[in-house]
Amino acid sequence: MADFIRIENLVFEYVKSEGGQPLRAIDDVSFRVPKGSFTAVIGQNGSGKSTLAKNINCLLVPTSGKVFVDGLDTSLPENIWEVRQRVAMVFQNPDNQIVSSIVEDDVAFGPENLGIDPAEIRKRVDSALTGVEMYDYRKKAPHLLSGGQKQRIAIAGAVAMEPECIVFDEPTAMLDPKGRGEVLSVIKKLNAKGITVLLITHFMEEAAQADQIVVMHDGVVKMKGAPREIFLRAQELKELNLGVPPAVELGMKLRERGMEIPEGLLTIDEMVKHLCR
Ligand code: ADP
Ligand code: MG
Repeated sequence: MADFIRIENLVFEYVKSEGGQPLRAIDDVSFRVPKGSFTAVIGQNGSGKSTLAKNINCLLVPTSGKVFVDGLDTSLPENIWEVRQRVAMVFQNPDNQIVSSIVEDDVAFGPENLGIDPAEIRKRVDSALTGVEMYDYRKKAPHLLSGGQKQRIAIAGAVAMEPECIVFDEPTAMLDPKGRGEVLSVIKKLNAKGITVLLITHFMEEAAQADQIVVMHDGVVKMKGAPREIFLRAQELKELNLGVPPAVELGMKLRERGMEIPEGLLTIDEMVKHLCR
């Protein structure tokens, strides 16, 4: 599959104002995100995940190395507009992303700024709200909604821009388990429709559902591979202060107690299927 995002030897340094040493937040990172795929990025706080996300969307420009989005070099000012049309971002806190007092106005905000025709905006807003299962709430005030609902409104706002890719920076971190489940199912649905997804998350059960996981630590990529490969390396993950999905943890405990549980069962569903076979 063609690559949608190509990160090549990316280095990013934050420059301190008083002439102090620059802080190297990303140190020679390379990986590729195939078009239409679902990539998860995990890593403890401060490992450089958000900095990486911002380099993809031209919010930050590489200190050295390159980021290509759909073949466009993100370091060229003339590409910023094109890149941002292709890649939307969704952040952790829905309250910081919602700008209007009515749900549908909020979703329309992005396309309005693109200068899109009102009839087309109407279509996009309705379709985006339907996609996140919030159409019935279109006339409501966002501040009255739950965290998960608000985050789905923020996602609808991104979808209404019709991007080819959405970068989610810990979109479920502030949500309760129900809200997390709702948001993840929306993300998977968008991916199934062909949107390339890059999901930064602290939740291993979310990462387990990706096609590829990139493990960051101190600004470098420590591991990269399919969830089944990554979560076999529980000890290495532990050394990076990372865990494994609950089903993998359970499998490990059951094996310790002598049960014959195959490695590589990643989800509770897979575990249940195995145990009840
Ligand atoms: P993560 O998202 O994985 O928690 P970040 O990308 O936010 O990591 O941060 C990576 C490193 O860069 C951290 O050491 C953090 O303190 C530093 N950092 C992040 N943002 C800034 C900033 N605006 N100015 C200076 N240093 C920053
Ligand atoms: Mg972050």
